[in-house]
Amino acid sequence: MNRAILWFRNDLRLSDHLPLQAVLAEVVDLVPVYVLDDRFLEADEWGFQRTGPYRMQFILECLTDLREHLRELGSDLLFYRGRPEEILPQVAEQYQCEGVYASRTYTRDELEVEERLATKMDLRLYHDSPMVHPDDVPFAIDRMPEVFTAFRKKVEKYSHVREAIPSPKAIPSPALEAAPLPTLTDLGYPASAADQRGVLPFKGGALAAWERVEHYFWNTEQLSVYKETRNGLIGADYSSKFSPWLAQGCISARAIFHEVEKYQQEVTKNQSTYWLQFELLWRDFFKYTAMRYGRRIFWPNGIKDQRRKWGYRPQVMQRWIDGETGDDFVDANMRELRQTGFMSNRGRQNVASYLVHKLNLDWRAGAAWFESLLIDYDVTSNYGNWISAAGVGNDPRDRIFNTKRQADMYDKKGAYRDLWLRQSVDSQ
Ligand SMILES: Cc1cc2nc3c(=O)[nH]c(=O)nc-3n(C[C@H](O)[C@H](O)[C@H](O)COP(=O)(O)OP(=O)(O)OC[C@H]3O[C@@H](n4cnc5c(N)ncnc54)[C@H](O)[C@@H]3O)c2cc1C
Repeated sequence: MNRAILWFRNDLRLSDHLPLQAVLAEVVDLVPVYVLDDRFLEADEWGFQRTGPYRMQFILECLTDLREHLRELGSDLLFYRGRPEEILPQVAEQYQCEGVYASRTYTRDELEVEERLATKMDLRLYHDSPMVHPDDVPFAIDRMPEVFTAFRKKVEKYSHVREAIPSPKAIPSPALEAAPLPTLTDLGYPASAADQRGVLPFKGGALAAWERVEHYFWNTEQLSVYKETRNGLIGADYSSKFSPWLAQGCISARAIFHEVEKYQQEVTKNQSTYWLQFELLWRDFFKYTAMRYGRRIFWPNGIKDQRRKWGYRPQVMQRWIDGETGDDFVDANMRELRQTGFMSNRGRQNVASYLVHKLNLDWRAGAAWFESLLIDYDVTSNYGNWISAAGVGNDPRDRIFNTKRQADMYDKKGAYRDLWLRQSVDSQ
C-alpha cells in the first residue's frame, strides 16, 4: 500500500500503538482520522444520552492533545462527525488511501461499524486494547476460563505482557486540510463548571495520563500502599484514577504494567504493586468475556441461560439517579456520579447491587445511566461489571451488598456522606 488511513478510536495516543506501528512499517505515508460517531451522542432506549458532557469534554481534550502530538511529528488529525463507515471511504477517495488501519473492538455497535466498513475498504485491525494479547493466552477464546480467578491464574502462569513500543520520531503524511476541533457547546452540550468536591480535575490526553502516572508512582509513591487505600471514597490518591485515560486509550495497559515493573525494581515490590497489575487483569477479563460471549453481555440474562424477569419503574429509577433513595451511602455515591462523572469502585459495587437487589430494577437501565455519566466509561468493563452485579455474569460470588454495613466499614465517620449530602459546592 502506498497510503492508508490511520483510524483513531479508543486509542488516542501515539506511543505503544499497534495499528500505528503496523501502518508505519507498511505504507509510504498515512492520514490520521477521528470520526465522532453521531450514534453515540443520541439517546438510548432508556432516554439517556449515550455520551454525557463529562466524557465528551474529556474526549475533546484527548483529541486536542493527540492533534498536537501529531503536528509535532509532522502530521495532523482530520476530525469528522458522522458515521465512520460512510466518512472513511470518502476520506480515502479524497486523499487516495488504499486501506484503513485501526484497533480492534469487541462489542456489538463497534463491530457492526467494522463489518460495514470492511465491505467497502481494506480494513486491517489489531488487538491493541487488551493488556495481554489474545495470541499469547494459553486457551482458545471460546474456551476461556469462566471465572476470573481461573482466568488470572492461567494468564499469569502462561502469558506475558508485550513490551510497550515507544512513540515514533516522525509520521509521514500528505498535506492535510484539518478543520478545527469542535467545542462542547458546538456539539450542543451545555457548558458546566467543575464541582470542586470531585476526586480529580480529569484532563484528557496522553500528556495528562503520563503526568498522573508520574504523580501516583514516582512523586508520591502511592502505588506502594494501593492495596490498603484502594477502597477509599474521597480524594485523588486512594486509587490510581487511570481509568478515564485507559478508556480513551491515552495510555496503554501494557505501558502501565511495565511502569509497575520498573517501580518494583527501583522503589519497592509488595502486595500493592502487584495488586495494580491484578486489577488491570480484571479489565482484560471483561474484554475477553466480550470476545467470547459477543452481544450476550447486553442481554437481560447476560451470559447465563436461565431467564430472569426484570422490573422497571421510572420514578424509582429517578430516585436512584438523583440520589434520593433514602439510603445515605447510595445517595452520596449517586450524587457524586451526577455531579462529577466519577464514582469509586466501592461506590459502584454498592449502587449497582442496590439497584438490582433492593430496588429490583432492570440492571440494563443502571448500566445505561453509568454509560451516559461515567468519564471512564468502557463498554466491556461497564457491562461486564454490571452483569456480575446483577448475578447474570460469570461471578460465582454472592454480590448482594449490605449498604449500611458497607457504609460503616468504608465511611466510618460519615465524611463521605457529609461531603455529598450535606455540603454544598460553595462551602468548599
Ligand atoms: C457497576 C460497575 C461499573 C463499572 N464501570 C466501569 C467502566 O465503565 N469503566 C471502567 O474503567 N471501570 C469500570 N468499573 C470498574 C472500576 O470501578 C473502575 O475501573 C475503577 O473504579 C476506576 O478507578 P481507578 O482507575 O482509580 O481504579 P484502580 O483501583 O486504580 O485500578 C486500576 C485500573 O484497573 C482496572 N480496574 C480496576 N477495577 C476494575 C474492575 N472491577 N473491572 C474492570 N477493570 C478494573 C481499571 O482499568 C483501573 O483504572 C465498574 C465497576 C462497577 C462495579
